Amino acid sequence: MTTALESPTASPLTTLSEEEQMFQQSVRDFAVEKIRPLVPKMDHDAVMDPSLIKSFFELGIMGVEVPDKWGGAGSSFFTAVLVVEELSHVDASCGVLVDVQNTLVNNAILRWGNEDQKSKYFPMLTSDTVGAYALSEAGSGSDAFGLACKAEDKGDHWVLNGQKLWITNAYEAGVFIVFANVNPDAGYKGITGFLIERDFPGFTVGKKEDKLGIRASSTCELILEDCRVPKENVLGEVGKGYKIAIETLNEGRIGIGAQMLGVARGALEHAISYVKERKQFGQKIADFQGVQFQIAQAATELEAARLMVYNAARLKDAGKPFLREAAMAKLFSSQVAEKVTSLSVQLFGGNGYTKEYPVEKFWRDSKVGQIYEGTSNMQLATIAKTILTDKL
Ligand SMILES: Cc1cc2nc3c(=O)[nH]c(=O)nc-3n(C[C@H](O)[C@H](O)[C@H](O)COP(=O)(O)OP(=O)(O)OC[C@H]3O[C@@H](n4cnc5c(N)ncnc54)[C@H](O)[C@@H]3O)c2cc1C
Repeated sequence: MTTALESPTASPLTTLSEEEQMFQQSVRDFAVEKIRPLVPKMDHDAVMDPSLIKSFFELGIMGVEVPDKWGGAGSSFFTAVLVVEELSHVDASCGVLVDVQNTLVNNAILRWGNEDQKSKYFPMLTSDTVGAYALSEAGSGSDAFGLACKAEDKGDHWVLNGQKLWITNAYEAGVFIVFANVNPDAGYKGITGFLIERDFPGFTVGKKEDKLGIRASSTCELILEDCRVPKENVLGEVGKGYKIAIETLNEGRIGIGAQMLGVARGALEHAISYVKERKQFGQKIADFQGVQFQIAQAATELEAARLMVYNAARLKDAGKPFLREAAMAKLFSSQVAEKVTSLSVQLFGGNGYTKEYPVEKFWRDSKVGQIYEGTSNMQLATIAKTILTDKL
């Protein structure tokens, strides 16, 4: 199969291979037909419908990049990005569940897991087990390497103590990548990644947050009290967890860019339909030039965000540097999402301010894009560092 990257002439970023189109269309159809009817209740109850999670496995989107010998789809990072965009254009909570599974959990195991870990965990993660990625703590968010969770070497096993906060998918997850420090005196060089199963002794999923947006996506505390972890469950090398955490998040934030792209697109699609129906002053509001210009501006910014996200994803698949492009894509698409969803509420007038219409939820869902996987200030810090030390 020829992908856009392998074609003899450079293809436009938005030109999709057959496989990419297939994933895009099947997830788009699923999102519109099966997810959309469930969205208001899931948002109200702040619970993901379990039937959807089952369907994500059946659709093959919980292991997009995982090789087929372990049950995955053996596709690309770019395909995972398309999947996240399509889900998020209907529901950002579904988008982030699948995003964390692919761009953080599977990605970290693909890059740093050994053969035994891959052959044990991938068949689970591609068939019925949701994964979660636990770095943040109450005292360490942007300063992620200041984490306080500790791991002690007990000879034939590790014992972990501490708490994690804000962990996406934790309510549903069966496997968790947890970062803890094996030697706090060594600072970040003591940070180590561990693969933890939900039923390991001493491991508990705690309080679930009641959130502004992405309400159906679970965000929970994790409690580790003398949690016993087998020796073989260290992910990568002891003391190299900081590298896993930073590099996985560099990739993961392209996925968040895709989520925000989907959110902006979903809201704008609703707004475009609405302005073509709603009449004031005896004409459709879409006929007012003032409204047309607002929609044209939003569509332009959405297109710019899309090109940035797609480019960052294609750079990653091509094995080229993408740190700055990923940070820029997340920064910009989360800003565009907040702006475009706000405009969509505005174009719905009073209706936009009620839960009878879908746009207020898109607006609420947009805000988190500027917070998780590195706040906007953290993205700006990364971009500034690369600009001031490298060439533009
Ligand atoms: C819904 C949700 C889901 C999440 N899911 C996960 C998950 O699955 N796994 C996980 O590990 N974490 C997760 N997080 C945590 C998330 O990554 C952190 O919230 C984020 O990194 C910010 O950390 P903080 O909340 O401690 O804010 P802080 O770090 O306290 O930041 C507060 C403010 O200060 C600013 N700030 C901080 N330092 C600087 C600086 N040096 N320069 C300029 N400004 C600065 C920030 O930009 C921000 O505006 C999630 C968070 C949310 C809200």
